[in-house]
Amino acid sequence: MNAAAEARALQLLNRVFGHPAFRGAQAEIVGHVAGGGDALVLMPTGGGKSLCYQLPALLREGTALVVSPLIALMQDQVAALKQLGVRAAFLNSTLDGREINACERALRDGELDLLYVAPERLMMPRMLECLVESKLALFAIDEAHCVSQWGHDFRPEYLQLSVLHERFPGVPRIALTATADPQTRDEIIRRLALDEARVFISSFDRPNIRYTIVDKQDARAQLLRFIREEHDGDAGIVYCLSRKKVDETAAWLVSHGVRALPYHAGMDAQSRAANQDRFQREEGIVVVATIAFGMGIDKPDVRFVAHLDLPKSIEGYYQETGRAGRDGAPADAWMAYGLGDVVQQRRMIDQSEGSEEYRRVSVAKLDALLGLCETAGCRRVRLLAYFGEAGAPCGNCDTCLEPPQIWDATEASRKALSCVYRTGQRFGAVHLIDVLRGRATDRVTQWEHHRLNVFGLGADLDEAAWRNVFRQLAALGYLRPDHEAYGALKLTEASRAVLKGEQRVDMRHVAPRKGRAAKTRRAAAADALSGVDAGLLERLKAWRMAQAREQGVPAYVIFHDRTLAEIAAAQPADMDALGALSGIGAKKLERYGPALLELVRG
Ligand code: ADP
Ligand code: ZN
Repeated sequence: MNAAAEARALQLLNRVFGHPAFRGAQAEIVGHVAGGGDALVLMPTGGGKSLCYQLPALLREGTALVVSPLIALMQDQVAALKQLGVRAAFLNSTLDGREINACERALRDGELDLLYVAPERLMMPRMLECLVESKLALFAIDEAHCVSQWGHDFRPEYLQLSVLHERFPGVPRIALTATADPQTRDEIIRRLALDEARVFISSFDRPNIRYTIVDKQDARAQLLRFIREEHDGDAGIVYCLSRKKVDETAAWLVSHGVRALPYHAGMDAQSRAANQDRFQREEGIVVVATIAFGMGIDKPDVRFVAHLDLPKSIEGYYQETGRAGRDGAPADAWMAYGLGDVVQQRRMIDQSEGSEEYRRVSVAKLDALLGLCETAGCRRVRLLAYFGEAGAPCGNCDTCLEPPQIWDATEASRKALSCVYRTGQRFGAVHLIDVLRGRATDRVTQWEHHRLNVFGLGADLDEAAWRNVFRQLAALGYLRPDHEAYGALKLTEASRAVLKGEQRVDMRHVAPRKGRAAKTRRAAAADALSGVDAGLLERLKAWRMAQAREQGVPAYVIFHDRTLAEIAAAQPADMDALGALSGIGAKKLERYGPALLELVRG
């Protein structure tokens, strides 16, 4: 981009969006697309992808067509752009014939900067004809991973989008996604015919997200404590594996005073949509959901994502946790994990209908995730390494904040494995632990396991410690649950070396958490809030809620939390000072400035 164009881009960024500077690769991407180039943008959620096409849309002549698979999001995005004074509209199945006509006319007459369309609508002959008669600035293909038949967001209509390239060869295209893996990237390039496109890959690190994986004991109680201590009144998502567990957990949270709502594919479409809508629009709602609750979420201020069950892969974990903290403010990814999760995920793989190849890949993906769960090193380093990125310990994950102690578990492992062997590889951890600890339960005596020499051999460790040993043995591949035999733990090829004393086994120690991380978090929150007038912030939020209600848009469309916090801290005295804050562009300043100054003055 030449100097004049660069200055113009920056000026628009300041004036329209109210941001002082570009973030990461944004400036480069904007320059490339504004100059007519094709681009593929891989950026994590919250990285600032929208600006990469919204600014070129304003810089180039004509209308930018934005293909987006999600109708609800389209509406909110258009509402947010209108707040900025940008001429934006959407075209989807929620409009009636008259509205569609008006929209098409505005497009032909060059009255729109951006037009959001659903992919199926874009491919209609009538729409394509209308495009031929219009001046087009660019095509933006959002959530471009929807072309991937292997991902769970696959949209067949996305496959037809390569037509755009054939029909409108002169119009630049920018495809965007937060899906990081190389296969998906290659598939996007191939299916959308983006071979000529410049590829922009950002770091997939989400520094504001704190990763924590705790040892699962009483998961619900642990979750409730986590919410109460660290996220009282915050919006969050709790992921569970089954619909039943979603319903039960939501009801249980409600009975303990948390504003929780369920979401899963077994609910009727209407209540599902209603719950999603409340989550999106109201503040402080916790949605308990299966992974069916996914792509439709564009809420920037989700403060935590909790997993009560293990996801299937690191990709899944990263995508789900990535829904926290899009606004860049501190957020938590919290997961409770135990031996039961390992057993359950293995069962799902063993019992799946998939091919041998599919199962092999699934096991490898699960193993990578278990490695993340059991690592004694930085979680973030491990996570990023999986996506091919190197990094240094982050200081913002549980293992960095409270490094786990490592103990030599070779002896305990040998005892555990020989207990498995002596009892015939037919039992689960509960029974095995009873035998090791020398508890003569009915089951133990029935099988005459009290006569074995392993009986009572592990009395030196308590039950929780043994549970940990078995979990880690399974996660490390020394034990494998067998689902033909009701989840009995069996030895593996690798266990032999341990049994023979040829292989040392190190394990994480389960020191009971003393809430140090929680304290650090609270201290951090206090730091961040220092200088913020809490009463003023409350008033600003109440004012924002009233505005949002009146206009029928989500609260964050008016202003993000961050902007309100900045106002409460800086307490600007005049319009100039107010306009200098991030997130307040010219239009919002003009529209809301007087009311905000009034609130600041008290
Ligand atoms: P993505 O689509 O990549 O998930 P968004 O485009 O929604 O991310 O942007 C995430 C957040 O970052 C939004 O709140 C947006 O206002 C903010 N943002 C984007 N670019 C900038 C920037 N240059 N300066 C400040 N904030 C930005
Ligand atoms: Zn770390």
